[in-house]
Amino acid sequence: MKHPLCERCEKAGKVVPAIDCHHIISFMTGKTPLDKKALAFDPNNLESLCKECHQKEHNKGTSF
Ligand SMILES: [Zn+2]
Ligand SMILES: [Zn+2]
Repeated sequence: MKHPLCERCEKAGKVVPAIDCHHIISFMTGKTPLDKKALAFDPNNLESLCKECHQKEHNKGTSF
C-alpha cells in the first residue's frame, strides 16, 4: 500500500490508519482479465482509506 494512513482523514487533519484499499476505477470495468489485473494493481488507481471513509465512498453509489 502506498500510504499507511487514510488519505481522506489525513486531509481533514486526522491520523487514522488505512485498513482498506479503494479502487478509484473499479477493476471490474476492465474488459479483459489482464485489464482487470492492471487496474487492480495500479498504485495510481488505489486510495488508502479507513473503513469509515471506504464505506462512505461506496454509499455514494460509486463503483467498487
Ligand atoms: Zn478515513
Ligand atoms: Zn472501494
